[in-house]
Amino acid sequence: MQRRPKRRRPSVEALQAGVESGNRALLAQAITLVESTHPTHRIQAATLLDALMPRTGGAVRLGITGVPGVGKSTFIDALGLHLIDQGLRVAVLAVDPTSGRTGGSILGDKTRMVRLSQADAAFIRPSPTSGTLGGVASRTREALLLCEAAGFDVVLVETVGVGQSETVVAQMTDTFLALMLSGAGDQLQGIKRGLMEMADLLVVNKADGDNVLPATQAANRYRQALHLLTPAYPEWRPRVRTCSGLDGTNVENVWGDVVTHREIMNKSGSLQSKRGMQNTAWMWTRVRESLELRFRSENAARLATIEDQVRRGEIAPTRAAVELLDG
Ligand code: GDP
Repeated sequence: MQRRPKRRRPSVEALQAGVESGNRALLAQAITLVESTHPTHRIQAATLLDALMPRTGGAVRLGITGVPGVGKSTFIDALGLHLIDQGLRVAVLAVDPTSGRTGGSILGDKTRMVRLSQADAAFIRPSPTSGTLGGVASRTREALLLCEAAGFDVVLVETVGVGQSETVVAQMTDTFLALMLSGAGDQLQGIKRGLMEMADLLVVNKADGDNVLPATQAANRYRQALHLLTPAYPEWRPRVRTCSGLDGTNVENVWGDVVTHREIMNKSGSLQSKRGMQNTAWMWTRVRESLELRFRSENAARLATIEDQVRRGEIAPTRAAVELLDG
């Protein structure tokens, strides 16, 4: 493969002005900057984010999860177009926990959201392609702030229902929506309880054609199951709905639920406290990340030896940690 010639990155000031004016090309470059792990870029990214901070916080942050094939891209395509029709600008970000580990990616391999990707009022960014889930989540959170500073009204953060990625997306969004299937997920015991507890909205997708009845039945079973759980916020009992991303049925009503959830949470003050808690959790994530990076670079030689000893069983992990930290 031929290497593309390196383009000069615009200055932080130019990126800031570009983001503020809603320029999608400069927004994309700003996101590339915050995704970089290069120390100089990290400092520039922090400067950029600081400068843009007053413009953040204004978007509806909606997390969307579901297993591969549940219809996330089709649904997001339909929802995004519906929002654009209403005069809103929509950004789509993704947290793909597999991309860094395997080199492949669940979310990024195919052409997704075909119609939305051609709309002027939309901005679609795939998941950062390297790093731990924590790292990917931090970058996505920063990308979300940049999208807000660029004036996007709605930021959709998508993830596959794998491992911890749902939790990290729930921790950066106001409303969390789980797309479900009536067929494979029919057995309720197959549904992760954690997901049910996390979701503000459960949407049984592909409720079209012959699948309308099974989807409606599945929705009823989810409603019953949810009644057994204590809601995370007393003012909001998670809603269940059927929808079809393919033919658009109920997509508008799902959005109505998102708006209602937001209004209720805003009125009770829960939205503000939720965002406050998310911010402190994020701060600690970044502190942990930076401390570990700094520790690793300052102790590189010692670490190699001690790691080797721990691997061979010559020294207990706890003792090794104490020695590393005290030494
Ligand atoms: P993702 O992997 O979750 O992003 O799922 P996709 O949006 O790529 O959809 C997976 C498959 O399901 C594709 O073949 C879609 O055409 C199909 N599909 C998606 N949404 C619907 C729907 O609402 N109804 C039906 N019948 N099929 C759908």
